[in-house]
Amino acid sequence: MKEFDVTIVGAGIAGLSAAIYLKRSSLTSVVLDKGAPGGKLLNIHEIDNYPGLGPVSGPELAMKSMDHATKLGVIYEYGNVLGITKDGDDYIVSTDMDQYRSKAVIIATGTQTKVLGVPGEKEHTGRGVSYCATCDGNFFRKKPVAVIGFKDQAVEEAIYLAGLASELYFVIPEPLDAEDKHIETLKGFENVSFLEGYNLKSIEGEKLVDTIVIEKEGKEEKLNVNGVFPLYGQRSTSDFLEPLGVQLQNGFVVTNETMASSLPGLFAAGDIRFKKLRQVVTAASDGAEAATSAIQYVNALKKKK
Ligand SMILES: Cc1cc2nc3c(=O)[nH]c(=O)nc-3n(C[C@H](O)[C@H](O)[C@H](O)COP(=O)(O)OP(=O)(O)OC[C@H]3O[C@@H](n4cnc5c(N)ncnc54)[C@H](O)[C@@H]3O)c2cc1C
Repeated sequence: MKEFDVTIVGAGIAGLSAAIYLKRSSLTSVVLDKGAPGGKLLNIHEIDNYPGLGPVSGPELAMKSMDHATKLGVIYEYGNVLGITKDGDDYIVSTDMDQYRSKAVIIATGTQTKVLGVPGEKEHTGRGVSYCATCDGNFFRKKPVAVIGFKDQAVEEAIYLAGLASELYFVIPEPLDAEDKHIETLKGFENVSFLEGYNLKSIEGEKLVDTIVIEKEGKEEKLNVNGVFPLYGQRSTSDFLEPLGVQLQNGFVVTNETMASSLPGLFAAGDIRFKKLRQVVTAASDGAEAATSAIQYVNALKKKK
């Protein structure tokens, strides 16, 4: 069992920001992640709303944030967090690799892209179905693709794909809920068809995807595509927190403005929080708040003893 004053779960922008702020205190801390540092940043083609950096690629911002953290001496360890339990005032964070005892924990595990659950989706994942245009878009250069979604992320990913694919079918099951600027950019591509009010019924193809079936008002249509990007939204990553009994809403951790959850010593930051605006800048801000609150909490606990 390893011991740190604070354990941060998740090395996305929220977790890295928290780790950087913790380094400004005398407390010890570790940041754990089951994937590469940077989290969702690694999947974003271009970020144009983070102050001071102008348009920046997600992977570049991830690399800069990790470099910054490493230079300050932040300790990063691999680990898929499977559960968290309490032992007196302490929290025990268990991963598939190790256990971590600490006085405070910051949950910064973000969200996951929702799976639509339509026939053919699971079987074709990695064989034409992808949830990350930035990661996989290149495989569909000059090929027809479909994006399914209605929010900003779907529109942003569609803009990226439109520049690569021969044709892009944008299947929009619900009224568009995205920035006008992004919608206008996407409309500027001649190879994009907006299919409003259509639902995705199935994904087909012998081994690789070659067809999708879409439906509107009971009428089905087939489209020939090689790539399908279901970008219907995000779901929380809090399953491992449920046994702990922390207050959740729709799976997201409820916090106050200091990022404190319903359990003393347990804080949350970034997209995993129950909140309205899930963006890079708000995740970074949450991380700073959560770290500052965790520092105050742990110092107060230490003084008591
Ligand atoms: C396609 C797309 C485009 C976007 N474009 C923009 C944009 O242009 N501008 C903008 O501001 N925002 C954008 N966003 C939103 C932005 O990416 C997020 O709000 C932000 O990155 C969230 O950061 P986070 O640290 O809270 O979570 P994440 O980046 O999701 O990081 C969470 C980390 O926790 C880890 N993790 C999860 N569960 C566990 C576990 N059990 N154990 C260990 N580790 C775990 C994950 O591996 C991950 O590294 C976009 C999002 C998407 C999906």
